Amino acid sequence: MNLHEWITSKVNEAEAAAKQAAPGPWEATVDDHGRKGIEAGVWAGGIDNYVVEVVVSGDTHIADAHHIARHSPNAILRRCEADRRVLARHRFDPDHANFGVSFYATCCEGCGYGDCGPNVENLDDCPELIDLAHAHGITADELASLDRPEAPPYVPTPVVRRSQSRMTADQAPATFRP
Ligand SMILES: [Zn+2]
Repeated sequence: MNLHEWITSKVNEAEAAAKQAAPGPWEATVDDHGRKGIEAGVWAGGIDNYVVEVVVSGDTHIADAHHIARHSPNAILRRCEADRRVLARHRFDPDHANFGVSFYATCCEGCGYGDCGPNVENLDDCPELIDLAHAHGITADELASLDRPEAPPYVPTPVVRRSQSRMTADQAPATFRP
């Protein structure tokens, strides 16, 4: 498993877990019971559907409830969609990966090219992917144990340069779709 595949597996896990959870939006709730203290909870779509009825009593834990609500399934699904877009850009360049003996066979398409060749010669070194892996909690040991990318098998694919194409409505992030 290489770095790109590792991140993809983590995105798949996060997405599957979010889809099984109560749909959002989640909202933090705070109930002040006077001398009995403050209870913080989280509900999904209203009082009839508590995700967590009591995070824990005490005003210092109101922040916990807000934190949980901020990471509701719809927020995670948006994040997964954004991650997939990064993964789709920072990948083997099909122009070069199609030729297994190419010097550029393992370079990152998304990181682009300079006068002397690809800016990132091996997908494992892509700074965007390394940052994404960090966000998904990769450890130094896991990072060290990943396979160095090999050139993928030849698969002819039509290449449309972003500069030559316009983003259609369904290609835009969900937030911006009409
Ligand atoms: Zn890259």
